[in-house]
Amino acid sequence: MDIQKIIGSYREVLEDVSLEANRLEKQYEEYMVCRKGCSDCCTDISLLPLEWYALRERVRASKEPFIQERQPGSCALLKDRICSFYPSRPLICRTHGLPLLYLAEEYDKQGDQVESEEPDWQISWCDLNFTTVSEETMEEIFDPEDVLNMEEWNTRLKTLNLDFLETREGAPFREKRRIPLQEIFKEFS
Ligand code: SF4
Repeated sequence: MDIQKIIGSYREVLEDVSLEANRLEKQYEEYMVCRKGCSDCCTDISLLPLEWYALRERVRASKEPFIQERQPGSCALLKDRICSFYPSRPLICRTHGLPLLYLAEEYDKQGDQVESEEPDWQISWCDLNFTTVSEETMEEIFDPEDVLNMEEWNTRLKTLNLDFLETREGAPFREKRRIPLQEIFKEFS
């Protein structure tokens, strides 16, 4: 597939997840305290090669020269507790603070993933955001239809990432599973 089509499809996924995130923010408005300026989720993240490549395009195209003043452990795009590339932020950043549905993974003592017989679906949420929700009350508050199913979103993302790795532009990234976001700035230093 053509690289620009893949990036276009990736950006559609980002728009779709943002729409769903907006819907959930309204749904849980009375519980959520997450506001602009809370940047505790903005840690030193890593990205799939497609996400990393697409974000680097946006950083390269930025008219404002970006001066990196990174705090240890914080995301390289965080400035004064605000994301400098908010409209281009990756998928994971659009899910921050919301209730997330995911399949729990089990690992053995050697650190290898163990296949479980029954899928173990779990809901996680941010304690800084849903301050009044606890393990005891979460079932009353979170409707399983109204949480972000991360398996579905990640599957869409991983499928596009595989398409990307097959392109000429993706070839140098074939051996990489994830790339630290901050490596975008290697070429600018
Ligand atoms: S890309 Fe933006 S929203 Fe995502 S972790 Fe970095 S600063 Fe936060």
